[in-house]
Amino acid sequence: MDIAYLSRYLTEHKYPAFRTKQIIKGVIQDGCATYAEITTIPRALQEELTRDVPILPFAVVSVHTSHDGQAVKALLQLTDGGHMIETVLISPKPGMWSACISCQVGCAMGCAFCATGKLGLKRNLTTDEITSQVLFWRQYLKKQQIAGTFDNIVYMGMGEPFMNWKNVRESISILTDKTLFSFSNRGLSVSTSGVVPGIKDFADTCPQVNLAISLHFASDEKRTMYMPVNTGYDLSALREALQYYLSKNKRKIFIEYIMLKGINDTPEDARLLAQYVSSIGHMQLLHINLIRYNSIGENFIPSDRDTVKKFQSVMQKMHIPCTIRKSVGDDISGACGQLAGK
Ligand code: SAH
Ligand code: SF4
Repeated sequence: MDIAYLSRYLTEHKYPAFRTKQIIKGVIQDGCATYAEITTIPRALQEELTRDVPILPFAVVSVHTSHDGQAVKALLQLTDGGHMIETVLISPKPGMWSACISCQVGCAMGCAFCATGKLGLKRNLTTDEITSQVLFWRQYLKKQQIAGTFDNIVYMGMGEPFMNWKNVRESISILTDKTLFSFSNRGLSVSTSGVVPGIKDFADTCPQVNLAISLHFASDEKRTMYMPVNTGYDLSALREALQYYLSKNKRKIFIEYIMLKGINDTPEDARLLAQYVSSIGHMQLLHINLIRYNSIGENFIPSDRDTVKKFQSVMQKMHIPCTIRKSVGDDISGACGQLAGK
């Protein structure tokens, strides 16, 4: 819901300020999907708002649940222009829910292994289109009567957050505002492919929000080959940005490393990764997540499970915290890198 528009609308129509509060409570905090559910406001106002102030800036085209019930993917059609985006609700542990949200339609960064990258960038999402994905999941959990806590939001859907930073930053303010969504800063995570100016501004402006870096390659030669962002911001520029972050915030940074068979999973690659991570310094604040490649029908193959384990043991021998991340939602094409708005 576009909160600024709602406030303007109510003021222009001469409603008292407490009405705005009642509506925000009903829609944002309580997850009411229609104005008729907000019983504290008069029927006439319910009807007026239903006509003039849409609660969601998109239509829900479909919702799919993975076979294990741990991931739900929604396909949404934006009211403005008709583009499709996707958002995923994940249960990392029983009774806990986390929303993975998109910030752009497509993405301009062009990573070779990512389905979103294949689309190119269609447009940025507005602040309202970003926060409303969370609103949609609140409504969904309420309607389906699914119990549990919903405390975490990850900016790991479609798009590169630091290429739409103004709107993403505004969405973080709204999601953490105590009078609005009221998520804690620590419950939010932003993931970037390594857009250096964005990392620096993030370090200055969002000190409590978690940061994840999609590193994936520890040599400039390979990283440039599969991630064009590396031509603008190479590994040494990225290192410097991470050092800047760590000098300002003593918070853990998550380093994501996708495992591609025969491409970045050899013992030599492990050694390079260990070396790179050590060169950043503050090793106790860096945590590597190994993720097996999720197929998007390109010419890549996920590394064998044994290879991933061996890779992990190289990191552990060097005392670098490293976990193997379990993929959820791949049977509904809702796993990392598989979101393509179809
Ligand atoms: N654009 C941001 C946010 C997207 S997060 C970023 O790249 O960080 C999505 C995560 O999934 C990123 O770490 C991305 O590198 C990873 N990813 C992309 N394609 C993937 C694939 N096919 N299999 C597994 N992970 C993938
Ligand atoms: Fe964009 Fe991230 Fe996909 Fe790269 S991995 S193309 S930055 S969404």
